[in-house]
Amino acid sequence: MALRTLDSLGDLSGRTVLIRCDFNVPVQDGRITDEGRIVASLPTLRALLEQGAKVVTMSHLGRPKGAPDPQYSLAPVAERLGELLGAEVAFAADTVGEDAQRVRIGLGEGQLALLENLRFDPRETSKDAAERASFAAELAAGADAFVSDGFGVVHREQASVFEIAQALPSAAGLLVERELGVLARLTESPERPYAVVLGGSKVSDKLGVIEHLLPRVDRLLIGGGMLFTFLDAQGYGVASSLLEEDQLERVRGYIADAEQRGIELLLPTDVVVAAAFAADAEHETVAADSIESSRFGADGIGLDIGPETASAFAEAIRGSRTVFWNGPMGVFEMEAFAAGTRAVAQALTEAEGLTVVGGGDSAAAVRQLGFDDAAFGHISTGGGASLEFLEGARLPGLEVLGW
Ligand code: ADP
Ligand code: MG
Repeated sequence: MALRTLDSLGDLSGRTVLIRCDFNVPVQDGRITDEGRIVASLPTLRALLEQGAKVVTMSHLGRPKGAPDPQYSLAPVAERLGELLGAEVAFAADTVGEDAQRVRIGLGEGQLALLENLRFDPRETSKDAAERASFAAELAAGADAFVSDGFGVVHREQASVFEIAQALPSAAGLLVERELGVLARLTESPERPYAVVLGGSKVSDKLGVIEHLLPRVDRLLIGGGMLFTFLDAQGYGVASSLLEEDQLERVRGYIADAEQRGIELLLPTDVVVAAAFAADAEHETVAADSIESSRFGADGIGLDIGPETASAFAEAIRGSRTVFWNGPMGVFEMEAFAAGTRAVAQALTEAEGLTVVGGGDSAAAVRQLGFDDAAFGHISTGGGASLEFLEGARLPGLEVLGW
């Protein structure tokens, strides 16, 4: 079956269309620090508005605990979205309450609203399908169609992604279509050499991906928080660095598997070790097998790949024809530990062939470090979703759209 796209919904003029976007942007002190995901949602929103639909957008932001929490309000997104669209965005202070109803009823053709954070309702992410379905039914009330355009959440079985698509005539938006098109190029017949660069902090999440990628890639580069589990698996101490001890056996298996398959597994040969997890912490570069001998001893925390590793990674990336990168190489948010991430990003911009950056923090990193979006083949709005796609996992939010 094929993914149902916007045109399958027919003429939407005068119709109330509910659209799931991924406006989960980083917010600091009420300011949006990377608006990439909002910008990425604009083509579909414009297409719906131009058709004269009454558009009700919805999203989550961060991880509130199933109850309203002002620090996770979508109000700053409503404001920025309005500026970007050059149109007024009616903001509802709830999702299925009186205010949402007021806002929806007040919408004219070609007008747009945004509901408050979906995760203020515990049913959005409930493990109980009946609870999710009840939330979806309340969201769907008064709407004529549902558009799924939050690519970053299509791997989630959540009320606003999955159940809602069963409650209304539904289709994928333009962003989801575009993301899938690029990722398909990575899975179908990538130009070789094909390199995957992994980093970030969600170690156990990402280790699973390696198993599925090993048979497909030519080069696997490991940085970020997960590198320490690899170093420890080789018998090197990692002091106070991020370590997932329960994954050591698994990681040893990957190292052996890579060797047997003749895959180039690039692990760091040097790391930047700091006295503490802080922007102004003292730090030094040491060999990857000598982390415990840094001057910080057992307190040392590895916060970035070292310069030797960064140049080896950059060379491997520049010499590849297809590159997928997910997860910063270090704690790029702190300038002292951003060099590894900067070097990898720079190398992607220099590589010929298709380069794809996936992941919320990775995308934020390249922009924060001053790179232009256009210097990359594609910056995906979805980290977990793109990894699961590459793994060949089933993505509930796409299956429900006929994919
Ligand atoms: P993405 O959103 O791109 O998928 P993740 O969410 O997995 O990436 O990880 C991003 C985070 O990983 C960043 O905030 C970064 O500071 C952190 N990180 C990278 N390297 C390390 C490290 N060595 N120790 C701790 N955190 C790290
Ligand atoms: Mg992240």
